[in-house]
Amino acid sequence: MLRVCSLGSGSGGNALVVEATDGLATSRVLIDNGFNLRQLVRRLERAGLAVEAIDAVFITHEHSDHSAGVAALAFRHNVPVFCTAGTAAACGLDEQTLTWTRIEAGQLVELGALRMEPFAVPHDASEPVQFTFSDGVRRAAVLTDAGECSASILDALVGLHALVLECNHDARMLLQGAYPPFLKQRIAGARGHLSNDQAAAILSQIDRTSLGGRSPTSSGATSATYRCSISRSGSTGARSDRRKHEGPARPALHLR
Ligand SMILES: [Zn+2]
Repeated sequence: MLRVCSLGSGSGGNALVVEATDGLATSRVLIDNGFNLRQLVRRLERAGLAVEAIDAVFITHEHSDHSAGVAALAFRHNVPVFCTAGTAAACGLDEQTLTWTRIEAGQLVELGALRMEPFAVPHDASEPVQFTFSDGVRRAAVLTDAGECSASILDALVGLHALVLECNHDARMLLQGAYPPFLKQRIAGARGHLSNDQAAAILSQIDRTSLGGRSPTSSGATSATYRCSISRSGSTGARSDRRKHEGPARPALHLR
């Protein structure tokens, strides 16, 4: 079973829980955390989850409403962090500050029953990605913080059973609104955010292409597959292992 739950979205913070269950075990990850720990815990509780139930956190990009709460979550609750090299650099993550593991657009990441595939998006950030998810039967995706649609985005959004899609603004209201010109340009630009019309256009296209779905196993991954087994032993050994940058992307990754 594949389940997706938004803990909140907007300039005040973003976080999304994705979980997959294969009948034996559940894998559960957080996509972004722009909330402080207290907020995150409260929002997780509302969803019936404890923070200890989160196996890993993936960062889509460095903007603070997506990343501000990641370090506290990692340090206080020993949650492994996954992100692109560009995101890590922009967030100031290094071997001295925080464990993180590199992911790349187009690579399949497997965490127990959960398969994830990051895909690149045009946004004014350093190597930003968004994600598709699958439990091997159902397929879902999240698409926020993208300035425009692209062929690669549409490729990623094929065969979806669920989509979390940001509809950021009405183009005319943005133009006539009170934001300063530079901010209007940034939001409406090709590396800004999707307008409502752009989001609707994406929906109309994937409505045509994804009906009937496709096999989640033919997800179009072009490079290495990660197979991750993550434990949260809380032991000092496990903790110290994770405080190192895991280095460049490798074909197989075992964190246990
Ligand atoms: Zn952003």
